[in-house]
Amino acid sequence: MIPDLGDRSLFPPFLELPEDHGASSSSIGSVGVDRILLAQVKDNMTITKPTLVLTDRDGHGFALVFDGLDRDGLDLNKLGLKKGATAVVHGARQTVPEQKNTDETLTAKAARRQFLRVAPGQVHTVQAVPTGLEQTVALAAKLREQQQRTLAEGTYHCEACGVSGTSNTSELDPAAKKLLKCTGCGHAWYCDRTCQTKGWSNGHKSECKALKALSTIWSQ
Ligand SMILES: [Zn+2]
Ligand SMILES: [Zn+2]
Repeated sequence: MIPDLGDRSLFPPFLELPEDHGASSSSIGSVGVDRILLAQVKDNMTITKPTLVLTDRDGHGFALVFDGLDRDGLDLNKLGLKKGATAVVHGARQTVPEQKNTDETLTAKAARRQFLRVAPGQVHTVQAVPTGLEQTVALAAKLREQQQRTLAEGTYHCEACGVSGTSNTSELDPAAKKLLKCTGCGHAWYCDRTCQTKGWSNGHKSECKALKALSTIWSQ
């Protein structure tokens, strides 16, 4: 089931991520839970390495740098990491550059700690959802609610009119109404073509690709 993206302990903001102390420590194989960072893509700031400017759930901005690649080494658009999309970074850590001055103030330290490094070969730890951060969190909650309801009731509901039914392959109740599944995302159900058209223009159009991305990321 898709996790609760609103949970700040599982999806902390940038400044609450564990620290990665420079190149000496590997960012892989760390102890503890796999923290996932959710952040909205603001801009592509690639100069020498693929670099994005992101904003986290608290509105804090930072850079995401793909290490070990040159400026043309990664097609960020193809990965879905476009302006306005949500980046999902698994095992995220904030990179703390080497300390230059031991009696540096905490503010100065925080000002330097503004980026997240993706180690060479770890590009797959960054995924994308094609909606903004707030909408992504809301859609995940909707999907989660649907999954819980389906588990509890064994039924689906038409996106357009709310009528309940089963999937068209379900043999549980032969008398139950068989709903059609959206082939785009697999997470919206409809009575028929009329309800599908209605549901699509009532908002599913803007949600379908994001639901598909969310369910692909959390398919296990
Ligand atoms: Zn319907
Ligand atoms: Zn869909």
